[in-house]
Amino acid sequence: MVSYKGYEPVIGVEVHVELRTSEKAFCRCSAEYGGDPDSKCCPVCLGMPGATPSLNPEAHRLAVLTGLALGCKIERVSRFDRKHYFYPDLPKGYQITQFYDPLCRDGAVTFELDGVRRTVGIERIHLEEDAGKLSYKGDKLSIDNNRCGVPLAEIVTRPHMRSADEAMAFVDELRRILLFAGVSDCKMNEGSLRCDVNVSVRPVGSETPGVRCEIKNINSINFIGRAVDAELVRQTDLILSGGTVEVQTRRFNEDTLKTEYMRKKEKTADYRYIREPEIPAVITDEAYVESVRREMPPLPAKREEELRNIGIKAESAKLICSLPKLADYFDLVKKETSDAVTAANLFVSEIIPVMRRGEPCVPPEYLARCADMFAAGDVNIVSARTSLRLSLEEGISPHTAAERHGLFVLKDEGLIKEMIEKACASNEKTVAQIRAGKVSAKKVIIGGVMKLSSGRAEPRLLSRLVDEFFE
Ligand code: ADP
Ligand code: MG
Ligand code: ZN
Repeated sequence: MVSYKGYEPVIGVEVHVELRTSEKAFCRCSAEYGGDPDSKCCPVCLGMPGATPSLNPEAHRLAVLTGLALGCKIERVSRFDRKHYFYPDLPKGYQITQFYDPLCRDGAVTFELDGVRRTVGIERIHLEEDAGKLSYKGDKLSIDNNRCGVPLAEIVTRPHMRSADEAMAFVDELRRILLFAGVSDCKMNEGSLRCDVNVSVRPVGSETPGVRCEIKNINSINFIGRAVDAELVRQTDLILSGGTVEVQTRRFNEDTLKTEYMRKKEKTADYRYIREPEIPAVITDEAYVESVRREMPPLPAKREEELRNIGIKAESAKLICSLPKLADYFDLVKKETSDAVTAANLFVSEIIPVMRRGEPCVPPEYLARCADMFAAGDVNIVSARTSLRLSLEEGISPHTAAERHGLFVLKDEGLIKEMIEKACASNEKTVAQIRAGKVSAKKVIIGGVMKLSSGRAEPRLLSRLVDEFFE
C-alpha cells in the first residue's frame, strides 16, 4: 500500500547485525552460535564487579567495513556508553553501546524499486553488544547468556521510506550489501539480522512528520511489509476517528498480521546513559580506514552492473548477484567461457535452483564448457541444457554426457540426405506440391527430418540440403 484513506506512511528502520567475529566484542569468549547454555561466558560478558572489558579489534574492523560498505563517514574518535535497563537477558543491568559518539555517520543505500532509483539515508552506525537469549517452555523461562557480549552493528536509517514495498526493498538491499561485504551471515531466522521498524503516518502531501511507533524485532522481510501496512491502517483509522497516535513500542503478531501494544516508549533519560568508564575512546585514523577500504570485496550492485554490461539480462544479473556464493561461482564460469550470456542463461535455469537447495553442484568449468559447446554450434540450446542436467545427475562432464547420450548436433551430410529421402517417401503429397512450385511446403520435409533426428540436425545445413534436393 502506498497510501490509505489519503494518508501515507513515513518509515525509518533500525537494523541490528551480528558481526562475524570468532570472539565476543569485549572479552575473549567464543562468539559462535549455539553450545550448552552459559558455556561461553566469563566475568566480563556477565558484568561481574571488577571485570575489565577491552574492544575486540576484529569487531572494530568489521564495523568500519560495514560503515564503508554503506558509504558512511568513519569518525576518528568514537566512544562507548552504558545504556541501563532491567531485563532478564541482560545480567549486567546495562548494555555497552555508542550513544553520544558513534563510529559511523551519514551513509546511504541506493536500490531500484519498480524501475525507479531510491536512496535511503543512513543516520549512524554504532558498535554495541548483544544480550542473552530468553526462551519459554510452558510457563518456565530459561536464560542462556551465550549471546551476551556478541558484537552487533546497529544501523539507523533516516525516515526516508514511504511504503511497505520500499521498506522491504531497502532491507533486502542492505542485507545483500552486508553479505557481500562479508560482515555478517545476516540470517533473519537465526537472529543475526533483526529489524525494528518505525512508522508514522501523515496526510499525503504534508511535510510535517507524524508521531511514530516502533515495532520491535521483526524477523522476516515479508513481515516488515505487513507490519508497515498494519500500522498505516491502524494509525490512520485512529486519527480519522478522532484519536491521537501515541509514541509506543509495539510488536508484530505473526498470526493476526497486526501490531500489538508492548509498552510506552522509553525516553532517552530512562536509560541513564553514562560514558563507559572501562573502555578508552576508539581512535580510527585515516590510514586504518584506508587499509580496511582496500580489503572491501566488490559489492553486489557493482557486480550486477558489470554482468549487465556484458549483455546478461538484468533479471539474470540480479539473481546471480543475490548471494555471494552464486556470484562467486559465476565469476569463475565467466573467466572460463567464450559465451558468458549463454552460460548465464544455463546457470539461472539449471544450476541456481540446485545451489539454492544446497545440493552438490558441477564445477564451474563444466558450465563454462557447456556454454562453449553451444557457442561452437556443437549442441543446440535444448541439448546444452540436457547435457548439463545429465552432467549434474551422473557426475560426468557435459561433453561426455553429450557424447554418451547422442546430443551433439548432426552435421553429417550423408546421414541428413538419407533422412530427407525418408521424409519425402512418407510425404508424397508434399513432395508433389513442392515440385509444383509451393516452396513453403519445404518446412514439412524439414520438420520430418527434425523429427527423425530428434531435433539434432544442424538447421542451416538441413535447409541447404533440402533446397539442393529439390533443385
Ligand atoms: P530510538 O532509539 O528512540 O528508537 P533511534 O534514533 O535509534 O531512536 O531511531 C529512530 C528511528 O526512527 C530512525 O530510524 C528514524 O529514521 C525513525 N524516525 C524518526 N522520526 C520518524 C517519524 N516521524 N516517522 C517514522 N520514523 C521516524
Ligand atoms: Mg529504536
Ligand atoms: Zn566473556
